[in-house]
Amino acid sequence: MVFESLADRLQNAFSNLRGKGKLNEKDVKEAMREVKLALLEADVNYKVVKDFVKTVTDRAIGEDVLKSLTPGQQVIKIVNEELTNLMGKTQSKIEYASQSPTILMMAGLQGAGKTTTCGKLGHLLKKAGKRPLLVACDIYRPAAIKQLQVVGEKLDLPVFTMGDKVSPVDIAKASIEHAKKYNNDLVILDTAGRLHIDETLMAELIDIKAAVDPKEILLVLDAMTGQDAVNVAEHFNTQLEINGVILTKLDGDTRGGAALSVRSVTGKPIKFVGMGEKLTDLEEFYPDRMASRILG
Ligand code: GDP
Repeated sequence: MVFESLADRLQNAFSNLRGKGKLNEKDVKEAMREVKLALLEADVNYKVVKDFVKTVTDRAIGEDVLKSLTPGQQVIKIVNEELTNLMGKTQSKIEYASQSPTILMMAGLQGAGKTTTCGKLGHLLKKAGKRPLLVACDIYRPAAIKQLQVVGEKLDLPVFTMGDKVSPVDIAKASIEHAKKYNNDLVILDTAGRLHIDETLMAELIDIKAAVDPKEILLVLDAMTGQDAVNVAEHFNTQLEINGVILTKLDGDTRGGAALSVRSVTGKPIKFVGMGEKLTDLEEFYPDRMASRILG
């Protein structure tokens, strides 16, 4: 189950509301205090939590919720709706270029799951009828090129590489010519990552962006790193202007903070989530389904 402890805590917070025939403001405020603690413990950004709790409380007390026949259920419904809003309301899809190929540039810190996710995304979009080409632009991490080739082989996806002696900008440019020649309508660039954000890395990503004008820049973030992931997202977004986030490792023992904060803090949506180590474990992200999963 995703966000198990958050889900448990929310269930507890709602236990006093559920099934009660009558509620007063105090009941709602008490429950919301529990919700606030649950969200903070899940490592959700403090300001996001504060705003969220205020919105839910105002709605619960303001609309004729408390006078309804099932006030507890109504409050829980409002929490569900506001959690959905927090995560972007509706699904955000990949945008395709009007002229083929569509270029997707993947960015992120080392270990976030970028290379694996390039393969997963290629696989998912191939199933949707695209003809993806994976491109090895990470020439620094010794095993990165080989890793992408192995992923490509497993998924039966073509991989474009020029070894580690050509600059990533030139590799990216050449890959687009290659894609046109071989009729690949989707190019997925696996770029370099580092353990921490640094100037050299950003400069290189900015150069690649300028050289190939990707339709989308997707930032791969490790959900296990919670608020740190959100800080990384803010930084990448300021420097590179990303289009969306792919949140990995949601299958692990992650608390939920990144999933619930990233949209609100950066204004950019989560587009996909990584749900496991297998190359088929990538899903489109639906805010409403995630909210329902969290609320059980
Ligand atoms: P990169 O350095 O960003 O390219 O990261 P990798 O693609 O090499 O992935 C780092 C590790 O994270 C690998 O062991 C992957 O199998 C693992 N990984 C990636 N995505 C997920 C995911 O959604 N769930 C889990 N459990 N592991 C993942």
